[in-house]
Amino acid sequence: MTGPNLEMARVGVDMLYNESAVTPSCSTQVSAKSVWLHIRKAQMRVASIGKCASCGVKIDKADMKSHIITCAKTTEFKGKAEKIIQLFIEAEELPEYWVYLEGNEQATFQELDGYLRHIWLECCDHLSGFFEMRNQIPKGTRLVEYFAKPGMVFKYKYDFETTTELLGKSINLRKGSIGKQTIRLLARNEPLKLACSECKKPAEYVCPFCIDVMPTLFCAAHAEKHKCGVEETYLPVVNSPRMGICKYTGGV
Ligand SMILES: [Zn+2]
Ligand SMILES: [Zn+2]
Ligand SMILES: [Zn+2]
Ligand SMILES: [Zn+2]
Repeated sequence: MTGPNLEMARVGVDMLYNESAVTPSCSTQVSAKSVWLHIRKAQMRVASIGKCASCGVKIDKADMKSHIITCAKTTEFKGKAEKIIQLFIEAEELPEYWVYLEGNEQATFQELDGYLRHIWLECCDHLSGFFEMRNQIPKGTRLVEYFAKPGMVFKYKYDFETTTELLGKSINLRKGSIGKQTIRLLARNEPLKLACSECKKPAEYVCPFCIDVMPTLFCAAHAEKHKCGVEETYLPVVNSPRMGICKYTGGV
């Protein structure tokens, strides 16, 4: 790798802590998407670890799918067996943010929308939509209905202005019961280890004004010294692909 690509990869590494500090060039302006792409490139050098919500085991993203399908804690149930669809959802172009969910026969895209807002997205009640290619999927559609055909995928958009885009697919259909809830979490990525752009300490704040120029991630001390310096304008570092966007301050 030579020239600008190498520089971009180095900038990415800077944003992870425990890596050697190289001051990013302030003269290079890049888009918000590419800032996060740098982080992703660097992040891909370390394992993307996630945690199973049922049994608590922490394993690599690549091994999570087979764990989800076979996890004894997830598949144990009492009561009447029904169809349960298991889904994998990740942020488009930021696949270090990912979740596994499952929904029972009653679960609709409306409920999936609510769940995704709850854990990952909700800032000011923006519009959202699910899409199969270019066609919008009616939110009343049940998940088991939509995924009855094999190979079905969907795209999801939250906020049609400063959009966060997700991609989803089904990984398994099983029989069982998940109790009264219609959708539940199976696993998600552990918080990323993002570093302050000025030192190696863990980043606590994102400057939303600098998200497309860098430096944009800061520890508390460097957030105070940063030129945009009005603390109320900063957003917290959170485990979500919507970090730093609009007024997003985090989910559960
Ligand atoms: Zn498990
Ligand atoms: Zn918003
Ligand atoms: Zn710092
Ligand atoms: Zn700033």
